Amino acid sequence: MNQFQYVRPTKQKAAIEALARDANAQFIAGGTNLLDLMKRGVMQPQKLVDINRLPLNKIERMDGGIRIGALALNSAVAEDQLVQQQLPLLAQALNAGASAQLRNMATVGGNMLQRTRCHYFYDTALPCNKREPGSGCGALEGINRMHAIFGFSDKCIAVHPSDMSVALAALDATVLVSGPKGERRIAFLDFHRLPGDTPQKDTNLEQGELVVAVEVPENAFPKNVHYLKVRERASYAFALVSVAAALQLDGNTIKAARLAMGGVAHKPWRLTEAEAALVGKPATEETFRQAAAVAMQGAKAFKHNAYKLKLAPNSIVQALKNAAGLA
Ligand code: SF4
Repeated sequence: MNQFQYVRPTKQKAAIEALARDANAQFIAGGTNLLDLMKRGVMQPQKLVDINRLPLNKIERMDGGIRIGALALNSAVAEDQLVQQQLPLLAQALNAGASAQLRNMATVGGNMLQRTRCHYFYDTALPCNKREPGSGCGALEGINRMHAIFGFSDKCIAVHPSDMSVALAALDATVLVSGPKGERRIAFLDFHRLPGDTPQKDTNLEQGELVVAVEVPENAFPKNVHYLKVRERASYAFALVSVAAALQLDGNTIKAARLAMGGVAHKPWRLTEAEAALVGKPATEETFRQAAAVAMQGAKAFKHNAYKLKLAPNSIVQALKNAAGLA
């Protein structure tokens, strides 16, 4: 059995100090991923800093948008009236994640920080550069049906599993973090990393930094949104491919668009060029197919995931049709 210390600070400063002092410490909130990782020996923190007593669970209006505390539960955010009215894309993405029981435990911060579900990462008998840098990537020549088609490296081809993060990437959110050097804001698109040569690092957080909140700016997408998640069963499964789509329509003309994909890369995959290809065009299936073709430029499959090269553009088209009310 792996022994570890457990502390429950009530002040943010104490929580940050506890982690900053100890490279083998981990924050824990809902624990819906970390406890699994600890039970399997994938992560073996020597200290757990339980942050559940910190006052970080508010969902509130702020100047120019909505601030969601890092400890707000996924279910609470999805059911919040402000979120449902102004960020329906986020509510849909949250409701697509995991199961009702898990959404009642999982927090916003934890959702962003969950680790990949690559099977090689979870099996300590197999090589995995993310779990053990330099040991190799088992998935590269192994079973890679669930893996990336964008942004991978020869060190890691895993995908990020969060649905919520795909919607936040599409909505231009910002992450507020606090650490030993003070507070800073990170654009959501810069929060998660591509694997490169350091797949063990999922995010650009520094040692001791705590996610305090996510801020979502006001946007033009209170309607005409759709989060499409394609998975192997209707509930409690990770995305093979997911698409967050939001349209601002003027009659049948697209005034603005937001698009991001999940299940295809090491981070939520924003599709800015495809968005640009939609603006000014009529909201038709033909327009959506053209944008999907733009989105898929540069995609590359491995032995078992070539199906994603078809599934991804078809999902983009379907999500946009649903968002436009054409489906
Ligand atoms: Fe590990 Fe990444 Fe390779 Fe999976 S894809 S085995 S997480 S290095």
